[in-house]
Amino acid sequence: MIFLNLFSVNTLAQAETISSTAVVSATDVAVSSTQISSATTIKVITPAASARESLVKWCVQSLGAYKNFKAKTNLEKSCEKILLKDRCVSVNGKPIFHLDQKGKNEKAKNILVISVIHGDEIGAGSLGRYWFERVQEIDPRNNWRIIPVANPDGALKKSRTNASGVDLNRNFPTADWEAEAEKFWKKDAKSSARKFPGEKAASEPEVNCIMDHIEEFKPQFVISVHTPLNVLDYDGPKVPAPNYSYLPWRRLGNFPGSLGRYLWVEQKVPVLTAELKPDLPTGSSVFDQLQDVIGQLVQTDLK
Ligand SMILES: [Zn+2]
Repeated sequence: MIFLNLFSVNTLAQAETISSTAVVSATDVAVSSTQISSATTIKVITPAASARESLVKWCVQSLGAYKNFKAKTNLEKSCEKILLKDRCVSVNGKPIFHLDQKGKNEKAKNILVISVIHGDEIGAGSLGRYWFERVQEIDPRNNWRIIPVANPDGALKKSRTNASGVDLNRNFPTADWEAEAEKFWKKDAKSSARKFPGEKAASEPEVNCIMDHIEEFKPQFVISVHTPLNVLDYDGPKVPAPNYSYLPWRRLGNFPGSLGRYLWVEQKVPVLTAELKPDLPTGSSVFDQLQDVIGQLVQTDLK
Protein backbone atom coordinates (compact mmCIF):
# COMPACT_ATOMS: atom_id res chain seq x y z
CA MET A 1 0.00 0.00 0.00
CA ILE A 2 3.00 2.29 0.38
CA PHE A 3 2.95 3.25 -3.28
CA LEU A 4 -0.37 4.94 -2.78
CA ASN A 5 1.48 7.67 -0.97
CA LEU A 6 3.24 8.47 -4.20
CA PHE A 7 0.24 10.13 -5.68
CA SER A 8 -2.33 12.55 -4.51
CA VAL A 9 -5.67 13.34 -6.02
CA ASN A 10 -4.06 16.28 -7.79
CA THR A 11 -1.22 14.41 -9.45
CA LEU A 12 -3.65 11.75 -10.61
CA ALA A 13 -5.99 14.27 -12.08
CA GLN A 14 -3.08 15.76 -13.94
CA ALA A 15 -1.62 12.46 -15.03
CA GLU A 16 -3.29 12.45 -18.43
CA THR A 17 -2.44 16.02 -19.25
CA ILE A 18 1.09 16.73 -18.06
CA SER A 19 3.57 16.35 -20.89
CA SER A 20 6.28 13.78 -20.50
CA THR A 21 8.97 16.45 -20.63
CA ALA A 22 7.69 18.39 -17.66
CA VAL A 23 10.45 19.03 -15.16
CA VAL A 24 9.86 18.95 -11.45
CA SER A 25 12.06 19.60 -8.50
CA ALA A 26 14.61 16.87 -7.88
CA THR A 27 13.36 16.31 -4.37
CA ASP A 28 10.11 14.95 -5.77
CA VAL A 29 11.61 12.31 -7.97
CA ALA A 30 14.00 9.44 -8.28
CA VAL A 31 16.64 9.73 -11.00
CA SER A 32 18.18 6.63 -12.48
CA SER A 33 21.70 6.54 -13.84
CA THR A 34 20.48 5.97 -17.40
CA GLN A 35 18.57 9.19 -17.25
CA ILE A 36 21.65 11.29 -16.55
CA SER A 37 22.86 12.17 -19.99
CA SER A 38 25.52 14.66 -18.97
CA ALA A 39 26.81 16.39 -15.90
CA THR A 40 24.67 19.42 -16.56
CA THR A 41 21.49 17.96 -18.09
CA ILE A 42 19.52 15.77 -15.80
CA LYS A 43 16.29 14.29 -17.01
CA VAL A 44 13.86 13.53 -14.32
CA ILE A 45 10.89 11.26 -14.03
CA THR A 46 7.85 13.41 -14.43
CA PRO A 47 4.97 13.41 -11.98
CA ALA A 48 2.89 12.07 -14.84
CA ALA A 49 5.12 9.04 -15.26
CA SER A 50 5.31 8.21 -11.57
CA ALA A 51 1.59 8.71 -11.10
CA ARG A 52 0.95 6.55 -14.15
CA GLU A 53 3.15 3.79 -12.75
CA SER A 54 1.38 3.98 -9.41
CA LEU A 55 -1.99 3.88 -11.12
CA VAL A 56 -1.08 0.74 -13.07
CA LYS A 57 0.23 -0.89 -9.86
CA TRP A 58 -3.00 0.02 -8.12
CA CYS A 59 -4.97 -1.57 -10.95
CA VAL A 60 -2.97 -4.82 -10.74
CA GLN A 61 -3.26 -4.88 -6.98
CA SER A 62 -6.95 -4.10 -6.71
CA LEU A 63 -8.05 -6.47 -9.48
CA GLY A 64 -5.52 -9.11 -8.42
CA ALA A 65 -7.68 -9.59 -5.32
CA TYR A 66 -10.39 -11.20 -7.48
CA LYS A 67 -10.47 -14.70 -8.86
CA ASN A 68 -8.54 -15.23 -12.07
CA PHE A 69 -10.31 -17.50 -14.54
CA LYS A 70 -7.58 -17.50 -17.13
CA ALA A 71 -4.83 -20.05 -17.67
CA LYS A 72 -2.58 -17.15 -18.52
CA THR A 73 -3.60 -13.89 -16.93
CA ASN A 74 -3.74 -10.79 -19.02
CA LEU A 75 -4.19 -8.45 -16.09
CA GLU A 76 -1.04 -6.37 -16.41
CA LYS A 77 -1.58 -5.86 -20.13
CA SER A 78 -5.08 -4.53 -19.53
CA CYS A 79 -3.95 -2.44 -16.57
CA GLU A 80 -1.35 -0.74 -18.75
CA LYS A 81 -4.17 0.61 -20.92
CA ILE A 82 -6.42 2.00 -18.22
CA LEU A 83 -7.63 5.57 -18.16
CA LEU A 84 -8.75 7.80 -15.34
CA LYS A 85 -11.27 10.61 -15.51
CA ASP A 86 -10.65 13.75 -13.47
CA ARG A 87 -13.37 13.25 -10.91
CA CYS A 88 -12.97 9.48 -10.62
CA VAL A 89 -11.35 9.41 -7.20
CA SER A 90 -13.02 7.82 -4.17
CA VAL A 91 -13.73 9.41 -0.79
CA ASN A 92 -10.40 8.03 0.47
CA GLY A 93 -8.51 9.16 -2.63
CA LYS A 94 -8.37 5.86 -4.53
CA PRO A 95 -8.54 6.04 -8.32
CA ILE A 96 -11.61 4.61 -10.07
CA PHE A 97 -10.03 3.61 -13.37
CA HIS A 98 -11.61 2.30 -16.56
CA LEU A 99 -10.67 0.52 -19.76
CA ASP A 100 -11.97 1.22 -23.27
CA GLN A 101 -12.04 -1.32 -26.06
CA LYS A 102 -13.48 -0.21 -29.37
CA GLY A 103 -15.49 -2.53 -31.59
CA LYS A 104 -14.66 -2.73 -35.29
CA ASN A 105 -18.27 -3.11 -36.37
CA GLU A 106 -19.51 0.10 -37.97
CA LYS A 107 -22.74 -0.34 -36.05
CA ALA A 108 -20.87 -0.71 -32.76
CA LYS A 109 -22.85 0.53 -29.79
CA ASN A 110 -21.50 1.81 -26.51
CA ILE A 111 -21.74 -0.62 -23.59
CA LEU A 112 -20.73 0.49 -20.11
CA VAL A 113 -19.92 -2.18 -17.51
CA ILE A 114 -19.83 -1.20 -13.85
CA SER A 115 -18.79 -3.73 -11.24
CA VAL A 116 -18.13 -3.58 -7.50
CA ILE A 117 -20.40 -0.58 -6.92
CA HIS A 118 -21.10 -2.59 -3.76
CA GLY A 119 -17.67 -3.17 -2.25
CA ASP A 120 -18.37 -6.53 -0.61
CA GLU A 121 -19.63 -8.27 -3.77
CA ILE A 122 -16.54 -10.27 -4.58
CA GLY A 123 -18.13 -12.29 -7.38
CA ALA A 124 -18.93 -9.04 -9.18
CA GLY A 125 -15.24 -8.15 -9.06
CA SER A 126 -14.35 -11.49 -10.59
CA LEU A 127 -16.65 -10.95 -13.55
CA GLY A 128 -15.45 -7.35 -13.85
CA ARG A 129 -11.85 -8.53 -13.87
CA TYR A 130 -12.62 -11.31 -16.36
CA TRP A 131 -14.24 -8.99 -18.91
CA PHE A 132 -11.58 -6.35 -18.24
CA GLU A 133 -9.01 -8.86 -19.48
CA ARG A 134 -11.19 -10.50 -22.12
CA VAL A 135 -12.03 -7.39 -24.11
CA GLN A 136 -8.33 -7.12 -24.97
CA GLU A 137 -8.32 -10.60 -26.48
CA ILE A 138 -11.50 -10.61 -28.55
CA ASP A 139 -12.62 -8.49 -31.44
CA PRO A 140 -15.75 -7.06 -29.90
CA ARG A 141 -18.73 -6.00 -32.00
CA ASN A 142 -19.41 -3.11 -29.67
CA ASN A 143 -17.46 -0.41 -27.87
CA TRP A 144 -16.92 -1.66 -24.33
CA ARG A 145 -16.02 0.56 -21.41
CA ILE A 146 -15.35 -1.31 -18.18
CA ILE A 147 -15.16 0.21 -14.70
CA PRO A 148 -14.18 -2.91 -12.77
CA VAL A 149 -14.04 -1.41 -9.26
CA ALA A 150 -16.51 1.45 -8.90
CA ASN A 151 -16.30 1.47 -5.09
CA PRO A 152 -12.62 0.94 -4.23
CA ASP A 153 -12.94 2.04 -0.59
CA GLY A 154 -15.79 -0.41 -0.01
CA ALA A 155 -13.78 -3.13 -1.78
CA LEU A 156 -10.82 -2.55 0.54
CA LYS A 157 -12.88 -2.73 3.69
CA LYS A 158 -15.26 -5.35 2.28
CA SER A 159 -18.31 -3.20 2.87
CA ARG A 160 -21.30 -2.68 0.59
CA THR A 161 -21.20 1.09 1.17
CA ASN A 162 -18.43 3.55 0.35
CA ALA A 163 -16.13 5.13 2.95
CA SER A 164 -18.87 7.61 3.93
CA GLY A 165 -21.32 4.79 4.63
CA VAL A 166 -23.48 5.49 1.56
CA ASP A 167 -25.03 2.82 -0.65
CA LEU A 168 -23.90 4.20 -4.01
CA ASN A 169 -26.74 2.44 -5.81
CA ARG A 170 -29.21 4.59 -3.85
CA ASN A 171 -27.37 7.90 -4.33
CA PHE A 172 -28.03 8.63 -8.03
CA PRO A 173 -30.01 11.87 -8.47
CA THR A 174 -33.34 10.41 -9.58
CA ALA A 175 -36.19 12.91 -9.88
CA ASP A 176 -37.87 11.38 -6.82
CA TRP A 177 -34.75 11.33 -4.65
CA GLU A 178 -35.64 14.32 -2.43
CA ALA A 179 -39.16 13.09 -1.82
CA GLU A 180 -38.62 9.34 -1.67
CA ALA A 181 -35.06 8.17 -0.95
CA GLU A 182 -35.10 8.62 2.81
CA LYS A 183 -38.68 7.42 3.14
CA PHE A 184 -37.93 4.33 1.08
CA TRP A 185 -34.80 3.64 3.15
CA LYS A 186 -36.65 3.87 6.43
CA LYS A 187 -39.67 1.86 5.36
CA ASP A 188 -38.53 -0.67 2.78
CA ALA A 189 -34.91 -1.00 3.85
CA LYS A 190 -35.79 -0.75 7.55
CA SER A 191 -33.09 1.91 7.98
CA SER A 192 -30.39 -0.66 7.20
CA ALA A 193 -26.96 1.00 7.35
CA ARG A 194 -26.04 -1.06 4.29
CA LYS A 195 -28.65 0.77 2.19
CA PHE A 196 -28.28 4.35 3.39
CA PRO A 197 -28.91 6.63 0.37
CA GLY A 198 -26.81 9.55 1.67
CA GLU A 199 -27.73 13.00 2.93
CA LYS A 200 -28.07 14.44 -0.57
CA ALA A 201 -28.56 13.06 -4.07
CA ALA A 202 -25.24 12.57 -5.91
CA SER A 203 -23.30 13.52 -2.79
CA GLU A 204 -20.66 10.83 -3.36
CA PRO A 205 -17.60 11.15 -5.63
CA GLU A 206 -18.02 7.57 -6.86
CA VAL A 207 -21.53 8.45 -8.11
CA ASN A 208 -20.22 11.63 -9.74
CA CYS A 209 -17.60 9.54 -11.49
CA ILE A 210 -20.23 7.23 -13.00
CA MET A 211 -22.38 10.24 -13.98
CA ASP A 212 -19.38 11.74 -15.79
CA HIS A 213 -18.90 8.48 -17.69
CA ILE A 214 -22.57 8.47 -18.69
CA GLU A 215 -22.41 12.03 -19.90
CA GLU A 216 -19.22 11.62 -21.90
CA PHE A 217 -19.40 7.98 -23.14
CA LYS A 218 -23.15 8.08 -23.73
CA PRO A 219 -23.71 4.37 -23.22
CA GLN A 220 -26.54 2.76 -25.17
CA PHE A 221 -26.58 -0.12 -22.71
CA VAL A 222 -25.29 -0.44 -19.15
CA ILE A 223 -24.42 -3.63 -17.29
CA SER A 224 -24.24 -3.25 -13.54
CA VAL A 225 -22.67 -6.33 -11.94
CA HIS A 226 -23.76 -7.51 -8.49
CA THR A 227 -24.16 -10.65 -6.37
CA PRO A 228 -25.84 -12.83 -5.01
CA LEU A 229 -29.47 -12.84 -6.24
CA ASN A 230 -29.02 -15.17 -9.22
CA VAL A 231 -30.98 -13.16 -11.77
CA LEU A 232 -30.59 -10.92 -14.79
CA ASP A 233 -32.70 -7.99 -13.68
CA TYR A 234 -33.47 -5.91 -16.74
CA ASP A 235 -34.70 -2.31 -16.90
CA GLY A 236 -35.29 -1.53 -20.54
CA PRO A 237 -37.62 -1.88 -23.52
CA LYS A 238 -39.33 -5.21 -23.98
CA VAL A 239 -37.05 -7.72 -25.69
CA PRO A 240 -37.19 -11.49 -26.05
CA ALA A 241 -35.30 -13.04 -23.12
CA PRO A 242 -31.83 -13.96 -24.36
CA ASN A 243 -30.90 -17.60 -24.63
CA TYR A 244 -28.89 -17.82 -21.42
CA SER A 245 -29.72 -20.50 -18.89
CA TYR A 246 -27.12 -19.71 -16.21
CA LEU A 247 -29.13 -16.78 -14.80
CA PRO A 248 -32.90 -16.31 -15.26
CA TRP A 249 -34.12 -13.13 -16.97
CA ARG A 250 -36.50 -11.35 -14.65
CA ARG A 251 -37.53 -7.84 -13.72
CA LEU A 252 -36.99 -7.01 -10.03
CA GLY A 253 -37.84 -3.31 -10.26
CA ASN A 254 -35.78 -0.30 -9.26
CA PHE A 255 -35.51 2.12 -6.37
CA PRO A 256 -35.18 5.84 -5.64
CA GLY A 257 -31.53 6.70 -6.26
CA SER A 258 -30.71 3.46 -8.07
CA LEU A 259 -28.85 3.32 -11.35
CA GLY A 260 -31.76 1.47 -12.99
CA ARG A 261 -34.23 4.22 -12.18
CA TYR A 262 -31.77 7.01 -13.00
CA LEU A 263 -30.84 5.59 -16.38
CA TRP A 264 -33.79 3.62 -17.69
CA VAL A 265 -36.80 5.33 -16.15
CA GLU A 266 -35.44 8.84 -16.62
CA GLN A 267 -33.00 8.68 -19.54
CA LYS A 268 -34.19 5.63 -21.49
CA VAL A 269 -30.81 3.94 -21.32
CA PRO A 270 -31.40 0.19 -20.71
CA VAL A 271 -29.69 -1.24 -17.64
CA LEU A 272 -29.04 -4.91 -17.04
CA THR A 273 -28.31 -5.66 -13.41
CA ALA A 274 -26.42 -8.93 -13.52
CA GLU A 275 -26.95 -10.45 -10.09
CA LEU A 276 -24.57 -13.39 -10.01
CA LYS A 277 -25.04 -16.48 -7.87
CA PRO A 278 -23.46 -16.51 -4.41
CA ASP A 279 -20.83 -18.98 -5.63
CA LEU A 280 -18.69 -18.31 -8.65
CA PRO A 281 -18.86 -20.72 -11.58
CA THR A 282 -15.95 -23.14 -11.84
CA GLY A 283 -15.14 -22.09 -15.39
CA SER A 284 -15.49 -18.85 -17.30
CA SER A 285 -17.63 -20.08 -20.21
CA VAL A 286 -20.82 -18.68 -18.66
CA PHE A 287 -19.15 -15.26 -18.45
CA ASP A 288 -18.12 -15.50 -22.12
CA GLN A 289 -21.69 -16.42 -23.05
CA LEU A 290 -23.17 -13.56 -21.04
CA GLN A 291 -20.92 -11.02 -22.72
CA ASP A 292 -21.69 -12.47 -26.15
CA VAL A 293 -25.44 -12.64 -25.58
CA ILE A 294 -25.51 -9.00 -24.46
CA GLY A 295 -23.30 -7.96 -27.36
CA GLN A 296 -25.90 -9.49 -29.65
CA LEU A 297 -28.89 -8.03 -27.81
CA VAL A 298 -27.43 -4.54 -27.96
CA GLN A 299 -27.21 -4.84 -31.73
CA THR A 300 -31.01 -5.12 -31.92
CA ASP A 301 -33.24 -2.07 -31.88
CA LEU A 302 -33.63 -1.24 -28.19
CA LYS A 303 -36.31 1.38 -28.33
ZN1 LIG B 1 -25.12 -5.16 -5.10
